[in-house]
Amino acid sequence: MQDFIFHNPTKVAFGKNSIQQLATLLPKDSKVLLLYGGGSIKKNGVYDTVMQQLTTHEVVEFGGIEANPEYTTLMKAVELVKQHHIDFLLAVGGGSVVDGTKFVAAAAEFDGEPWDILAKGVEVKSAVPLGCVLTLPATGSETNIASVVNRSELGKKLSFLSEHVRPQFAVLDPQTTYSLPDRQLANGVVDAFVHVMEQYLTYPVNATVQDRFAEGILQNLIELGPRVFEKDNYEVRANLMWNATQALNGLIGAGVPQDWATHQIGHELTALYGLDHAVTLAIVLPQMMRHQRSDKREKLLQYASRVWHLDTSDEEAAIDQAIVKTEQFFQQMGMKIYLHEHNVEETVVRLVPRKLMENGMMSFGERGNLTPKDAELIIKAAL
Ligand code: NAP
Ligand code: FE
Repeated sequence: MQDFIFHNPTKVAFGKNSIQQLATLLPKDSKVLLLYGGGSIKKNGVYDTVMQQLTTHEVVEFGGIEANPEYTTLMKAVELVKQHHIDFLLAVGGGSVVDGTKFVAAAAEFDGEPWDILAKGVEVKSAVPLGCVLTLPATGSETNIASVVNRSELGKKLSFLSEHVRPQFAVLDPQTTYSLPDRQLANGVVDAFVHVMEQYLTYPVNATVQDRFAEGILQNLIELGPRVFEKDNYEVRANLMWNATQALNGLIGAGVPQDWATHQIGHELTALYGLDHAVTLAIVLPQMMRHQRSDKREKLLQYASRVWHLDTSDEEAAIDQAIVKTEQFFQQMGMKIYLHEHNVEETVVRLVPRKLMENGMMSFGERGNLTPKDAELIIKAAL
């Protein structure tokens, strides 16, 4: 196992009506900016429940954060933070609202051009404190330090990491997910699944605890996946929500190599074609597994055996089957696994590597040995 520091101080308030704990979770006397998305929280009642908890706080609102949060929109929120001397940010929504809020938190205190946080990886030294009420189990953003921001005028979707933007608290009430459309439920399952794979399907370092945790989350998602569409099934939604948080809260990623190449290529597909984040992952991951079959061989066999219970006496056949099982699982969740199914044209084969190069992604993957040329081959296979 590799050395690591594990520190995840986000306080999680999980369960039925946990939004009612907001008043005590929020710092007293703080001036709050409430950030949300395109209006789902107004339709499903989450907005009203949240507002009932904010009666003793001074609140400014900022709605309209898009799925794949837009840089220009977020910069308007940064202005509000400065103008109103906001001292706490409350994100209410899915991963896009939480990620967007993280960027606002960092940009509001950034000395310089905030775009450089994303484009040049300039270190974030401080941020406005934030908390969140999550309404879409998927990204793990509710307790982690990552944020992904889209700037469509430049065709770029870029991320940054900072301990300063880890939410102080995350309110997880599975009932808030009842209003999710099937497409977003499927996105959540697939995103969480791929988060685990990015931290698990690398090369073995004898991290047996992390491996077993990762395999447990994967198996849970496989079992839960088809049931997440059941209406108002609290137990299923509760397990989905906690699965998605655990998939990317640092626990299974501590002390192990991490890949993230599928996400990096996926981000370029979203930036180019506006495909949902998880939709891009369902397309890229199977071809990534095939492309990396020799580098990932040992873990592919472990995955075949422990997650899919395949007979591995014929190793090549087991790996093939494990990849097909993964594809079938994504398809079962309603995902299309080829680019042509989304009417993406062949030019994508040239565009993705070009964009990776533009964004300075010259080597990636757990061994750092993938190049834009590898991305080209992976995309070609996913056509
Ligand atoms: P999302 O983009 O936050 O939300 C997708 C859609 O679902 C929105 O239209 C939203 O509507 C709607 N929605 C959310 N909650 C709802 C509810 N309870 N009922 C009905 N509709 C609801 O989706 P996401 O998958 O959570 O986030 C995706 C983003 O996160 C991508 O940009 C991706 O790159 C990023 N990401 C981040 C991390 C990380 O670690 N930080 C990891 C993976 C992915 P409204 O706008 O109207 O609310
Ligand atoms: Fe993701």
